[in-house]
Amino acid sequence: MPGFPSARLVRGIIMLKGTPASDGIGIGRVMIIEEHSLEYTPKTVTDTDSELERFRAAVKEFCENTGAQVEALRQSTGDKEAEILQGHIQMISDPYLCGEIEKLISDGRCAESALEHMCDMFIAMFSATDDELTKQRAADVRDIKSGVLRILLGVKEIKISDAPKGTVLVAKELTPSMTAGINKDNIVGIVTETGGRTSHSAILARALEIPAVLSVDGAAAKLSSGEQVIVDGNEGEVIVSPEEAQLAHYNEKRSEFLQERRELENYRGKKTASASGEVYELFCNIGKPDDAVKAIEFDGEGVGLYRTEFLFMDRTSAPDENEQFEAYKKAALILKDRPLIIRTLDIGGDKAIEYLGLEKEENPFMGFRAIRFCLKNRELFKTQIRAILRASAFGDIRIMLPLVTTVDELREGKRLISQTAEELKSEGVAVKENIKVGVMIETASAAVMADVLAKEADFFSIGTNDLTGYTMACDRGNSDVSYLYSALQPSVLRLIKYTVECAVRNGIDVGMCGEAAADSRMIPLLISFGLTEFSVSAPSVLKVRKTISKWTKEKADEVAEKVMSMATEKEIDEYLKTVI
Ligand code: PEP
Ligand code: MG
Repeated sequence: MPGFPSARLVRGIIMLKGTPASDGIGIGRVMIIEEHSLEYTPKTVTDTDSELERFRAAVKEFCENTGAQVEALRQSTGDKEAEILQGHIQMISDPYLCGEIEKLISDGRCAESALEHMCDMFIAMFSATDDELTKQRAADVRDIKSGVLRILLGVKEIKISDAPKGTVLVAKELTPSMTAGINKDNIVGIVTETGGRTSHSAILARALEIPAVLSVDGAAAKLSSGEQVIVDGNEGEVIVSPEEAQLAHYNEKRSEFLQERRELENYRGKKTASASGEVYELFCNIGKPDDAVKAIEFDGEGVGLYRTEFLFMDRTSAPDENEQFEAYKKAALILKDRPLIIRTLDIGGDKAIEYLGLEKEENPFMGFRAIRFCLKNRELFKTQIRAILRASAFGDIRIMLPLVTTVDELREGKRLISQTAEELKSEGVAVKENIKVGVMIETASAAVMADVLAKEADFFSIGTNDLTGYTMACDRGNSDVSYLYSALQPSVLRLIKYTVECAVRNGIDVGMCGEAAADSRMIPLLISFGLTEFSVSAPSVLKVRKTISKWTKEKADEVAEKVMSMATEKEIDEYLKTVI
């Protein structure tokens, strides 16, 4: 909410506001994680050889320590989280970064100063982008910098593993190396001053199922060690020194939350069906092949959106055909016969990739991105299509084109796909016959043209994240206009309804892979419109299945009819809250 105060007094109790990043209620005592000072006086060195040795030894020790943490993290949270830390070893071992640091040392800088100089350059560069994922890289480099500096300066490391039972960790930033030591039996909550829902801290907190509130302005200064706090990860609130009545209230909320989490287990292994018997597909959104493991663990029935752009990020050149083939094949093999919808490269806009040479645009969201970029960069696009088609022999793979705005784009994409399939067949490579090619409906133009697109596409998937932004002409990152950013806006709902109706009329599947697919307020509307597939983040699967199971088609129709006659988002939101 724009201008919401970061701390306010509610009947004498201090409440700090932040970003809700991991669900649940944690009640415990604050432990402030203070970084030990890593200050030093820069020196000019004359014996540059021994300084180089000192730097290399520190990097070696850092990599060994981090390697051990990777193993610890793999045991406690799984591969995905461990990979974040594994990335630190790769980053510090990067020949360019190391080479530049060593050059500075050879010119007479001390190891500390050379390391800091280069890391700060990368931190500034990564922080300057608008892309959340690239911004995360800045946190990684900061973590690496302090890790190696600590070794060079001989400063003892912070040991979170020693935190007693009932601890709420409070830190400026929870770095992946810190979280490696978290014992989930002892840590009941996490509060940080930085990071959003997609930051590493958030991903790790969710993986550990620890309630977390991030981006709490000045948390470390406002809280004191040993103080009792309530961390409300659902609402993004931290209640400081609660009264008895509040403790009782939140203890009850906590029990309800845990009870609900247990109850959701009843929906594991069940079909996804409404109370009146309509059956739906309930898929997951993934960013990496290994995420398919999580999708299955959380009982997803397939993958409705594999965002392949992650394979192209954080590197200096594009993955070649074989590397891509291995990644897509891996996801297909993990999923066995479950559907795997692979979205072709969706870059540009907020997803910048330096080596692709995309020029800075005045208006990147309206510019050269996704299918527009791919159709102009044939070689890159064809390489991806070849890799997907080769992988199609290993599972139920379907292809989805992002940010389509015209029928021509779909036609051209389909033409390239069938031409590539023919080429592969003539090379003797096995590919799936008549692979399905679908369209993401995430621009107003695509939604308005849904009647025509539905005649030529094999399926639709509605991307409400972008569809909402493009329809409302508003950037959700801009707090002055974020009040407009809601998929429940009547205009967005009209486009969703029309898209689904066109798909149903033409007998093609229609899914939703934007965040709105998991929104309990949206679900009755989607049931009524006739959506056939929901694709959500893995941890939302059971909750969505439960919500769907509570609605009959008849009741959903009644609600949808009322909603579609309403004029404002506020009215719709308020009404839906009374019926869910
Ligand atoms: C969307 O726009 O809703 C979508 C799922 O795509 P992304 O979030 O990757 O842009
Ligand atoms: Mg999108």
